[in-house]
Amino acid sequence: MSKHVVVIGGGVAGLEVAGQLSKAGIEVSVIEKEINTGGHLNNWYRLFPDRRDSSEVKEYLDGMTHNHGINLLTNTTIEVFKRNTSHFLITTNGGKELTADAIIIATGFDLFKSSRKEEYGYGIYDNVITSVDLEKMFRKGKIALTNQTVPETIGIIHCVGSRDEKVGNFYCSKLCCVTAVKQAIEIREFLPDSKVFCFYMDMRMGGAFYEELYREAQEKWGVNFIRGKVSEASETIENKLLIKVEDTLAGRPLKMKLDMLVLMAGMEMSEDGEKIAGIVGLKTGENRFFAATDNLIGSNRSNIDGVFYAGSCTAPMNIPETISHARAAVVEVIDYLNDGIR
Ligand SMILES: Cc1cc2nc3c(=O)[nH]c(=O)nc-3n(C[C@H](O)[C@H](O)[C@H](O)COP(=O)(O)OP(=O)(O)OC[C@H]3O[C@@H](n4cnc5c(N)ncnc54)[C@H](O)[C@@H]3O)c2cc1C
Ligand code: SF4
Repeated sequence: MSKHVVVIGGGVAGLEVAGQLSKAGIEVSVIEKEINTGGHLNNWYRLFPDRRDSSEVKEYLDGMTHNHGINLLTNTTIEVFKRNTSHFLITTNGGKELTADAIIIATGFDLFKSSRKEEYGYGIYDNVITSVDLEKMFRKGKIALTNQTVPETIGIIHCVGSRDEKVGNFYCSKLCCVTAVKQAIEIREFLPDSKVFCFYMDMRMGGAFYEELYREAQEKWGVNFIRGKVSEASETIENKLLIKVEDTLAGRPLKMKLDMLVLMAGMEMSEDGEKIAGIVGLKTGENRFFAATDNLIGSNRSNIDGVFYAGSCTAPMNIPETISHARAAVVEVIDYLNDGIR
């Protein structure tokens, strides 16, 4: 008999899972809360490490899902979740009822809300933007200040909302150092006369080709890396941003005037993920992401038999890691559907 799996979340992880399960002959429904699938991928212009256009990855994912007749329910969330002896019963916000043999949670992450770090002035000062705002400028082909002039000096602040006791996030978001390096290079490409400064606590370049990108940023593009924590930003009368930094390598405090500040906001457990955890009865960890039953050999398994995780709803992940985690979830689900043993 044909089996039916419901995937909650239609980002990179959810679409990869759906495509692979469908190829294996399993009926799949994807529940996506937004009108479009793709999740955060839709916000990025060129991707690290090789700066490919993100639309190439989206095309791959669309191909996976369109070719295999997946039941895609967009603008949809789940309202009710029940389990009987052998099936899961789901009711959507539109009142649609679905019966599933297994569930995959792929609800992804939320970007840290930078306005929570008041000391950096996001939403208060002109020209304090986030990495996402900068991606939008890249896509438009124009980096501009609010008065439409071109910035000459740009500062990038790492670790915004990550490794930060004050906001309750002790973990490292893993991808913001490489995002900063990629964006610093792109700013220099767009604006060859600009000066770019990255303010970091540690450079964490733990991915294939990340270190090479870091080297390129320094040697080819002349990006300045300053080891130090920015304590605050303020706006001057001539509409510049004044930042105070503790330069921990030089061992002295530093003040600098810049035209633009870019905040490298980290990744957090999504609010909708938290709701799903409540509705379904799933455990979350110390970092508030979904908690797998075993971080070494069971990172797709949840505390409920037949419910599995895929992608960045469990931890910060880049796209290749998300795709691998999604494929691993497919193997777990197929094992479960075959013999019910995890
Ligand atoms: C600033 C930044 C830049 C990045 N740039 C790159 C890069 O250049 N290269 C790279 O490899 N990686 C990059 N990444 C990482 C990349 O964005 C993630 O690896 C990827 O988005 C993870 O996919 P996902 O499907 O797990 O999550 P998401 O992209 O968050 O997708 C989750 C999906 O689930 C949906 N959803 C959530 N809750 C519900 C619900 N309750 N019901 C239904 N649907 C729901 C959401 O709408 C969304 O469509 C970057 C990350 C950040 C923060
Ligand atoms: S990846 Fe870099 S910027 Fe992001 S939290 Fe970790 S150390 Fe900070």
